[in-house]
Amino acid sequence: ATLSAVVKEHNTSAFDGKEAALLVDELRNNFNTGRTKSYQWRISQLQNISRMLDEKEKCITEALNQDLSKPELEAFLAEISNTKSSCTLAIKELKNWMAPETVETSVTTFPSSAQIVSEPLGVVLVISAWNFPFLLSVEPVIGAISAGNAVVLKPSEIAPATSALLAKLFSEYLDKTTIRVIEGGVPETTALLDQKWDKIFFTGGARVAGIIMAAAARNLTPVVLELGGKCPALVDSDVNLQVAARRIIAGKWACNNGQACIGVDYVITTKDFSLKLIDALKTELKTFFGETPLESKDLSRIVNSFHFKRLESMLKENGVANKIVHGGQTIEEKLKISPTIVVDVPEASSIMQEEIFGPLLPIVTVEKIEDGFQVIRSKPKPLAAYLFTNNKELQEQFVQSVSAGGISINDTVLHVTVKDLPFGGVGESGIGAYHGKFSYETFSHKKGVLYRSFSGDADLRYPPYTQKKKMV
Ligand code: NAD
Repeated sequence: ATLSAVVKEHNTSAFDGKEAALLVDELRNNFNTGRTKSYQWRISQLQNISRMLDEKEKCITEALNQDLSKPELEAFLAEISNTKSSCTLAIKELKNWMAPETVETSVTTFPSSAQIVSEPLGVVLVISAWNFPFLLSVEPVIGAISAGNAVVLKPSEIAPATSALLAKLFSEYLDKTTIRVIEGGVPETTALLDQKWDKIFFTGGARVAGIIMAAAARNLTPVVLELGGKCPALVDSDVNLQVAARRIIAGKWACNNGQACIGVDYVITTKDFSLKLIDALKTELKTFFGETPLESKDLSRIVNSFHFKRLESMLKENGVANKIVHGGQTIEEKLKISPTIVVDVPEASSIMQEEIFGPLLPIVTVEKIEDGFQVIRSKPKPLAAYLFTNNKELQEQFVQSVSAGGISINDTVLHVTVKDLPFGGVGESGIGAYHGKFSYETFSHKKGVLYRSFSGDADLRYPPYTQKKKMV
């Protein structure tokens, strides 16, 4: 089937509260058979995902291009290859992750042994966002399957081609009795949220996260909230300027054209250094996207006209447009905005108060680089924070005193690819973390188990509680 036929077919089905209840019942019954708990079931589903990635790479890239004009290589590197390496890691490590961990016991329980045993949570819901619509859907599902859960995925309706493709591919490659995709927007998600889940894993914005948490609270359902925020890049003058500029561009415009949760939201640098940094950014932007970036095939478009208008209005507000030092061109019909840099805009403007999530880059100048810490601290805790400097003391100070979901020093975004690092927010940028083993743990309960025999039955713990027993 062509991609447009797949999109059409999958967008026509209605889904309400009654169907949501039936779905969860069915999955819970299937989970209760114990099928998803076996190593064999988990590994076979993971292998199927791996095969799906190999066989359907072209369709996935096409869907991402349709939804976001995502350049083919960016789609491959950021979405397909990252998902593939998570899947490969889970296949390789699954036995180790599942193995009970033996811990020491105390004299109180002597003789005994104790273990931490992982168990699946049950039936879990994954709700994902539109900006990396494939990766953000499949990566948590890999965690849910590894941990032995039944899972429902609700992809974002704002990336309809990828959503439809996920529905089709999951039904083709995975166990339908325990793994399902439900497509849709607010009504369908609301119907799902009315059900009782064993965990809800949500990727999206803070406003909707509040709705998710309130729905989860009704059943005391635990949540993971993978949110966003304003991710700063603090740039010192003691840097390799060209490399720093290239890496800032990679973490802004070459990252879904700024529509990324860990993309650079704004830059802070010193007044003295700012002109050099802006020049370097302009030079490298030309090298990457040419003289007419609106025509570049290497820049994603803005996802839809709502977000296009939102970004345009950020530039129109408070005289921000007068502060443009680079870019500022737009083509509304094509939803294109060129890489745009503004300097020292009023702090009260939306561009400095809200997550930008697009190709606009404000630069804030400060007298001394240390003043940048106060700028970062004045805003809610971001999902990521970046520092560029050779100065080791400054690096240490940044790591110790900047609270953020994660940090890259002298780079942007790449910490997300290190599978032994947890990925998640802190404060307003989220709750919980995943990736690699953290994904497995996020979807598992760690059960403490004490093994005893009938020996060592000391009188001490039993009444009558005599003074003599207290002395022992
Ligand atoms: P969003 O919060 O608008 O939507 C996320 C999901 O919630 C979608 O599946 C959507 O259908 C659903 N939804 C929307 N409104 C709802 C409602 N009223 N009730 C129930 N469900 C609803 O987020 P988005 O626009 O898709 O994504 C952008 C946001 O996500 C940004 O803030 C970004 O920083 C964040 N994000 C975070 C990560 C991360 O890994 N931490 C990754 C990507 C994006």
